[in-house]
Amino acid sequence: MTGIWPPRQYDDPLPAATWQTLGRCNEVGGDETWFPPKGVSSRPAKLVCRRCEVRAECLEYALEHGERFGVWGGLSERERRRLIALRDRYEAAA
Ligand code: SF4
Repeated sequence: MTGIWPPRQYDDPLPAATWQTLGRCNEVGGDETWFPPKGVSSRPAKLVCRRCEVRAECLEYALEHGERFGVWGGLSERERRRLIALRDRYEAAA
């Protein structure tokens, strides 16, 4: 299983157009699964992400592009904000 922290370093990242076609979200769920409205659980999407081969690439893309909505790389918007804060603190301390 690919961990999300510390983030993987990319010497030769897959282009977005490549990894996006490999995402499991292409096979399951609809907009409401991947962009759950307020009050709707993001857990079904996260369970799919857990077994996605391009989870790390997806999460990194979302972090780099400031994706504000939906589940990316198995994390909700709030979880991504926390991860960014952790990453910032980690980098500031390094
Ligand atoms: S990690 Fe989740 S949101 Fe990202 S490509 Fe895979 S299934 Fe889709």
